[in-house]
Amino acid sequence: MIKVKEEIKKNNFYIKKSLGQNFLIDENILSKIIKEIYIHDKTLTIEIGPGLGNLTEKLVENSNYTIAIEKDKSLENIINKNIKQNNFKLIIEDFLKSDLNNVLSNFTNEGFDIKKYKILFVSNLPYYITQKIIMKIITSDIQFETLTVMIQKEVSDRIFAKPYTKDYGILTLFVQYYSIPKFLFNVSRNSFFPVPNVDSSLIQFAKKNDKEKLPLDEEKKLIQIIKASFAQRRKTLINSLYNELHIDKNTIKEILNKININENVRAEELTLEHFKILSKEIKK
Ligand code: SAM
Repeated sequence: MIKVKEEIKKNNFYIKKSLGQNFLIDENILSKIIKEIYIHDKTLTIEIGPGLGNLTEKLVENSNYTIAIEKDKSLENIINKNIKQNNFKLIIEDFLKSDLNNVLSNFTNEGFDIKKYKILFVSNLPYYITQKIIMKIITSDIQFETLTVMIQKEVSDRIFAKPYTKDYGILTLFVQYYSIPKFLFNVSRNSFFPVPNVDSSLIQFAKKNDKEKLPLDEEKKLIQIIKASFAQRRKTLINSLYNELHIDKNTIKEILNKININENVRAEELTLEHFKILSKEIKK
């Protein structure tokens, strides 16, 4: 395993807190992550934020091809020095701005037939953009197998939250709509250098089958209704939808009555299925 502290010293590397640079230094955790990613043969692995390359090194060893996307240009020489195999491609760019189909073309341009490979996304995520990165991948049209990510424990709590709790909200519902999330294990903050202020969890998302999703216009409506319902979570659903989207209060009252839900219900009491029915009825 790449020795993080030595590597930083040797290269005079300046750690950027603003980019969420907390490097994994625990070899046991690294091995556990690799086991969970379950890299079978015929895989293209895409890593977001390779850092110094310690997770990347293992991905390259185990996958047919690995693409890593890193925003910090000052890591370019270090990564390319640490990982020399030719089944590896480093792209220096902001993942939030990258076009995923362009990223995949780095693989097909090497002559691989992408249909024959499983696409695995992997990341020890920079904490400041955890949610944006997860949403970008799970809402994309890329047919990936799994997305395995290290995220701060509090975000993991929100992903797996149950209705009627303060953690339950937009993130819980969006993730449930687009994917099947699975909790893997918690990781202590001491497994990283520098030590972050929070503990982490490893989570794996499987992409939901397109057949389980709504037609695009209904999906758009559902997203809009969920966002509006949680805009002011202390308000009743009726008031939130009226304030945010100017939906007539009586219309919502009638729908709630029809599906046997109390008129004073708040967004945090409704499941994804409830929101699906609600948005379908409102659309009528
Ligand atoms: N994978 C390494 C590890 O496990 O030790 C580094 C993980 S560190 C938590 C997050 C990495 O993401 C850093 O290398 C950081 O520079 C990079 N990063 C931050 N923002 C990024 C972005 N928008 N796009 C791509 N990489 C980013």
